[in-house]
Order: sequence, then structure tokens, then C-alpha cells
Amino acid sequence: MAKIRVLPPEVVGHIAAGEVVERPASVAKELVENSLDAGARRVVVAYEGGGIALVRVRDDGEGISAEDLPHVFVRHATSKIARAEDLARVTTLGFRGEALPSIAAVARVRLVSRTPDAPVASWIEVEGGVVVGRGEEARAPGTEVVVRDLFFNTPARRKFVRSLVAEGAHLLEILERLALSRPDVAFAVYGGDRLAFATPGDGVLLHAYSSVAGAEAAREMIPVEGERGPWRVWGLVGAPSAARKRVRRMYFNVNGRPVRSFAWQRAVLDGYGTRLLREHRPPFVLFVEGPPERIDPNVHPAKWEVRLSEEDEHLLYGLVRDAVSRALARADRTFFFGE
Ligand code: ADP
Ligand code: MG
Repeated sequence: MAKIRVLPPEVVGHIAAGEVVERPASVAKELVENSLDAGARRVVVAYEGGGIALVRVRDDGEGISAEDLPHVFVRHATSKIARAEDLARVTTLGFRGEALPSIAAVARVRLVSRTPDAPVASWIEVEGGVVVGRGEEARAPGTEVVVRDLFFNTPARRKFVRSLVAEGAHLLEILERLALSRPDVAFAVYGGDRLAFATPGDGVLLHAYSSVAGAEAAREMIPVEGERGPWRVWGLVGAPSAARKRVRRMYFNVNGRPVRSFAWQRAVLDGYGTRLLREHRPPFVLFVEGPPERIDPNVHPAKWEVRLSEEDEHLLYGLVRDAVSRALARADRTFFFGE
């Protein structure tokens, strides 16, 4: 049965529009988000040439039916929401039906997918937005998307791409971040033929952290937990000794969605109080969970921000700060008194 439908224009009008594909990292992010939305337990990513030459994402998720396959490259076609009201309660990472069409418009894309009940997989190839081939092949259930030669037909955008090394580093960081947002999913990431990292997918955040940051860095992480009203925060923060002037792993997730929030970052730092040296920042991976109808992800084209009410922002500031502060105080006691 077909599941992907084109959103009616009045719904499209409510969507925060913008450029989805800025850099190779955005391609990787959108593809992995689709895998996670498809309920994947395992996601394998490979990239070459900073992600410009190749980004490949393979998953064992629910797959796309042969019938739906041509619709995935139609703008504003999605299986995830249908009505404007649905925007108020989005629980999937994607909802705009923009990513695949935007990527396919500026690259050569091959998508092959099989639903568990289909006897074979179906594939489709699109180059610069034009379908150039379709067929069937044998394959395990799940989806694989291969994106080659990003920006081959848009030299202006190609110029904004930084060095391939910088793009590769950024891409890897986004993948790390996504892997840490879902410790229950096994990620394997290959840069060239080298395995960059692999997480076990056993649901234990510390194991995922250890896989991406190394066992030594993981030993410096302290568990955090707190609750207030319908909101919960949990995760890991670095011991003060793990703080550095340049720390890149400062990761928030809200209801499983990686987000950036200056306000919550402030809350974490305030939770450290006087424990940090000047300008030093601790690494952390924190999860905020709360009622989906109070979290609006429809703010930013790349979905890096969410909007909350002023009241909830205030409550969360206190919740995050106090949870971090309590966790650090407990860790101090363990350190000094072995409690
Ligand atoms: P969105 O994620 O906002 O719906 P996309 O352009 O990213 O839009 O994807 C379009 C549709 O293609 C999705 O709604 C989904 O039905 C299907 N799709 C894309 N990637 C996958 C995948 N890895 N597994 C299953 N379905 C997928
Ligand atoms: Mg998507």
C-alpha cells in the first residue's frame, strides 16, 4: 500500500522552508534521520572525498514499497505527516518531505529498498532531479541510499564547500552526534576504507560514548538524572578534569532529536558553578524528554532548533542546571570520601 503522499499546499505553507542541502554533512544527516524514522536497528554509513564524492547510508528499517519509490523524490511528499494539525505533534525526525528531492536535485542518487513482505528490492536512480533508471534486484529488507558527486550541476554551491578534509570532519561530527542521540541503534561509520567508529546499539549511552570518544574519555563521564513536572533530563557530563578550552562534544537531544540550544548550554555551565577553569567547557551528552505537543521542531530548515514556551524554557533551565550540579556534587563526594 502506498504510504507517501504529497502534502497539501496549506500544510507546505506552515513548514519552515530553506536550503536543506548546504554541505555533505547535511546529506548524511538527512539520510540517517530517514533511517532512524524507518525504525532501523542498524545503520551503516560510508563516505569518500569529504562526502562530496560519496555518501552511502544503509539501514535495516521498514523499507519503501515499489509503489512508493518514485514518490520519495517528489517535493513535499512524506509518509510522516498528512495534515497541518500533525505539525503540532511531530515525533519523527523528518516531516517536510524535502530532503530526498533536494539532495537528488544536486547529485547523482541511487536508492534501493525492500519492505519485509516484498520478494525483491526495487531501485531508482536520479541525476540532477531527473529519473534515469529503475529496476529490481536481490537484497535484504531495508534501504540503501548512495549519493555521488554532490553539487556536480551547481558550481556556485560547490564553491561554498570548504576543503574536503574540513567537510569530512564536519560530516563525521554530525554522524557522531546522531549515533550518540540513539544509543539503542548500532552505527558503523567508514571514512574511505577506514572504520571511523562503531557503536554497539545496546541502549547504553556510556558504551556509545566510549565507541565514539574512546574508553579513556568515557571514564571521565558522570551520569546525570533529574525530573520536573512532565520533563526529564538524563545523560552524561564530563568531570571538571575533562573540560578543555575547545570541546566539541556538547550535545543536547530533545525527544530523540539532536538540537542546539544556547540557553541549555548556559544551564549546564551554571550547573558546574565554580568547578570550571576560565573559558573551559565540559563535554556532555544530555537528553531532554517531554510532551511532544510542547516542543515545536518546525523552526529551522535543518531542524537544529526547537521552540518551547517561555515557561518551559525557564523550567528546563532550572532542571538542567540542578541535575548537573547534583551529579557533580555526588561525584565530588565519591572522589573525596569513596562513598
Ligand atoms: P521526510 O523525511 O521529511 O518525510 P524525505 O525526503 O527525507 O522526507 O523522505 C521522503 C519519504 O521517503 C519519507 O517520508 C519516507 O516515507 C521515505 N523514506 C526515505 N528514506 C527512507 C528510509 N531509509 N527507509 C524508509 N523510508 C524512507
Ligand atoms: Mg527525511
